[in-house]
Amino acid sequence: MSGVSTAAPSAAGEQVAAALIDWHLRSGRHDLPWQRNRTPYRVWVSEIMLQQTQVATVIPYFERFTGRLPHVRALADAPLDEVLHLWSGLGYYARARNLHHAAARICSEHGGHFPERFDALAALPGIGRSTAGAILALSFNQRHAILDGNVRRVLARHFAVDGDPGDPSVARRLWALSEACTPQRHVDVYTQAIMDLGATLCTRRNPACARCPLTETCLARHTGRQHQLPAPKHRPERPLRQVFMLAARRADGAVWLERRPERGIWGGLWCLPQFDSPADAADYMEQKLGERAPVRPLAVIEHAFTHFDLVITPLLAHCASLGGAPDPAQHAWYQAVAPGALGLPAPIQRFLQRLGSARTRPQLFD
Ligand code: SF4
Repeated sequence: MSGVSTAAPSAAGEQVAAALIDWHLRSGRHDLPWQRNRTPYRVWVSEIMLQQTQVATVIPYFERFTGRLPHVRALADAPLDEVLHLWSGLGYYARARNLHHAAARICSEHGGHFPERFDALAALPGIGRSTAGAILALSFNQRHAILDGNVRRVLARHFAVDGDPGDPSVARRLWALSEACTPQRHVDVYTQAIMDLGATLCTRRNPACARCPLTETCLARHTGRQHQLPAPKHRPERPLRQVFMLAARRADGAVWLERRPERGIWGGLWCLPQFDSPADAADYMEQKLGERAPVRPLAVIEHAFTHFDLVITPLLAHCASLGGAPDPAQHAWYQAVAPGALGLPAPIQRFLQRLGSARTRPQLFD
């Protein structure tokens, strides 16, 4: 993988860069939390959080995360549970696990100093070519091309690039265009500008071409093809998975949780135990909790992952005893009214909160 921009900017690329830099200096966003006190660490955390997630959603998470873990060593030293807890609700939890692993490697392999070389940065977990380029451009003003979803959309439209951007030949063409637009000077401003343009004006559904600094030169605008470009990704049909989850609740309201395996969906997060059938859930309850109690199905929880849809049927069961957690690293009794610092998937957290409220208002689940 080579992320060093060796190709010189083209004349058309220079025009794009100049227009974007001028636009950003005049009307760009300059007050985002990661633009203040800009360090490579803060840029890195923001870039990872912003993958698949809108700026407005990221801001409170970023403030909380960097407030608690202000530098790479603090992140490396933090327990994974705390990192996942700070990430709870942002989704795509592999990003948080990769941040944690990468921080440990920065400390062990680079003495806690953030790598300034592309190859060293791109070798870390969760940092691909575009993210490495963005971190180096924004933090160190190094010249690297980037190609995240927003930039891909701007370039595909401006240069009328047909074809699925996931197709390798189309991706190569887009990378070449990104290289050609990346300027020799003010790379940091340009990089922020093209990302912001895609996020604020050249949006997927309603591009604001009349206000766009590239309106004069944009081929999609001139041919009226903004809504056809970039071509939609070829997506295989989304499978549907159906599972059951046991909500074993004690008389004091605490619910039994298990830590999920590191690999797989919601890896490392705390969750209700998952089963293929209600009978399996009842067997588990008898073996793990020593209780033989009826399980009652509640309204399903639906959650969309990138590649499939998950439908969960929660099974409520009442525990007569007040048992402890046999292995605190793997099991916990969770009180929704006084939650500990555990990382939970957002839909499960919402379910547990509703379940907690339903103790006083049972109609919530009738
Ligand atoms: S003119 Fe419209 S389609 Fe072209 S880059 Fe600007 S916002 Fe996007």
